[in-house]
Amino acid sequence: RLRSLLFQEMSQFKQASPGLQEVLPVSADMLATALAQKQLSVHFQPKIVCTTQQVVGFESLVRWQHPERGMIFPDQFIALAEQSGHIAELTRQVFDLSLAWFADNFLDTDLKLSINMSPIVLADAQFPAWVQQACDHYGVAPNQVTLEITETSSMENPVAALEYLTQFRIKGFHLSIDDFGVGYSSLVQLARLPFSEMKIDKMFVMSASASIESQKIAAAVIGLARALDLNVTAEGVEDDWTLQFLCDLGCIHAQGYFIGRPMPPDAALQWIHSRKSRQEALSEAQKS
Ligand code: C2E
Ligand code: MG
Ligand code: MG
Ligand code: MG
Repeated sequence: RLRSLLFQEMSQFKQASPGLQEVLPVSADMLATALAQKQLSVHFQPKIVCTTQQVVGFESLVRWQHPERGMIFPDQFIALAEQSGHIAELTRQVFDLSLAWFADNFLDTDLKLSINMSPIVLADAQFPAWVQQACDHYGVAPNQVTLEITETSSMENPVAALEYLTQFRIKGFHLSIDDFGVGYSSLVQLARLPFSEMKIDKMFVMSASASIESQKIAAAVIGLARALDLNVTAEGVEDDWTLQFLCDLGCIHAQGYFIGRPMPPDAALQWIHSRKSRQEALSEAQKS
């Protein structure tokens, strides 16, 4: 009886939290179909200034809207796309969707757009020119765009990485090192490669309120980023306490569920509009 009760509990819990649903494997063929039939979409997660809570931009995060399975998250297909040779086409579709949305809504603003880029694509000699053309097509200036790169073993060669990254940097794109603290990035890479932003991995941020160790790591990483003149962003901010904690440590930007979840394009627009009117009302109230 206990077992069946537990089972019932568990299946309700799974329905409530999509991340825990049974993970069915995806295949390279499914991915090929998804790309051909344009099943990919992008969600946008806001990023704010820690001290003022002002919105500075959005990060685009790919989603796969499968006709039968529903939404599939990138952790389940990016690695496969990298292995099966689909990552270039996937990246092109993500750039198109992201730039089109950004250009439609934020062309004459100070907001910035961040796009995740696989190191495999980074090493593709055709990409810097392609990305620049895509930006030109939508009228988005390269300096409004930040490319987020998660360091993996393919970035272990700093000489090659310098060459690829420089191609983007001289075109005006900003470069960000994603998930710092859990991967392969070395201090040499941080100091020598043309990054302008470092994102602290959410592992340390999410656990900061409960773990002294995470607090110490977050503090050290923020200190390191500031010493190297990098804009430091914390991802995975899930509560008020953590935002304040990071702010006190000198963290510059923050992202996380406490601020705003990744949202479909229209919902992200609504989110920023309602936030703007709320802030305007607040500053009006403060004036009077
Ligand atoms: P990432 O770039 O480090 O993005 C942050 C991930 O953390 C996202 O997961 C986001 O939804 C999630 N997140 C944000 N705030 C919170 C929070 O407060 N709490 C928790 N628990 N999670 C939070 P998502 O969207 O599933 O993406 C996972 C990873 O997939 C990304 O990590 C990125 O490395 C990769 N990815 C996403 N889109 C693309 C893409 O278009 N191209 C490539 N190459 N990789 C992508
Ligand atoms: Mg990212
Ligand atoms: Mg990250
Ligand atoms: Mg990540």
